[in-house]
Amino acid sequence: MHADLEALLKLQEKDKIVMQLEAELTALEPEVQQLDDELARAEEVLGAAKLRVEQADKRRQELEGKIESYRVMQERRRQRLEWVRGAKEASNLMAELDLARTVLAKEEAEWVRSADKVQEAKGIAEQEEGQLEELRAAQGPKREEIAAKQAEIDDKLRAARADRAETAKPVPAVLQDRYDRIRQGRAPLALYPIHNGACGHCFTAVPLHRRQKVLGGRGVEPCEACGVLIYDGGE
Ligand SMILES: [Zn+2]
Repeated sequence: MHADLEALLKLQEKDKIVMQLEAELTALEPEVQQLDDELARAEEVLGAAKLRVEQADKRRQELEGKIESYRVMQERRRQRLEWVRGAKEASNLMAELDLARTVLAKEEAEWVRSADKVQEAKGIAEQEEGQLEELRAAQGPKREEIAAKQAEIDDKLRAARADRAETAKPVPAVLQDRYDRIRQGRAPLALYPIHNGACGHCFTAVPLHRRQKVLGGRGVEPCEACGVLIYDGGE
């Protein structure tokens, strides 16, 4: 077999190892994504619960402000009552005081309910917070396991790429350039043996004169149909 073809085939074997390791890394991605999605959902639920606490608290504060201003107005009416002289004016003021007292009582009852709602919302938010923490803790071992696998594959990949670079050295630059360009295209590999007189990648028949050129492993020829490098692998 020609030395260039032999060097190219060796390079392709190294590239297959690199590709396999890259595929193993990619295969781990959905597992990480699933864990991330689970966590994101729990965070979203907690976020919504916290928002409800904020809204309930805002409502309670609004009621407090309202009640406070009613009280101030009520106090002013009481003070005015001490100074009024006319009976009609006094009875009007008394009626106003009564009415305002009823309104105030309603607002106060509403405030009690709003305070309950704040407590309720806080309870739910605490529960969600606890569930998020539990989920984080539960995911820990799985995430560590994946990270360990990733680190192991990364190490192998670094070694495989170094090995590949070393194996590429004896390949003539022009040939290596062609090889690399083909690999950037659609074909998964750059070199394919001729199989039953056809390209091993696209199965287009290789004309006899081209087959003659590579006969017995003499070299490589580009496939006219798909552009990969074809060679005579001995069959
Ligand atoms: Zn082809």
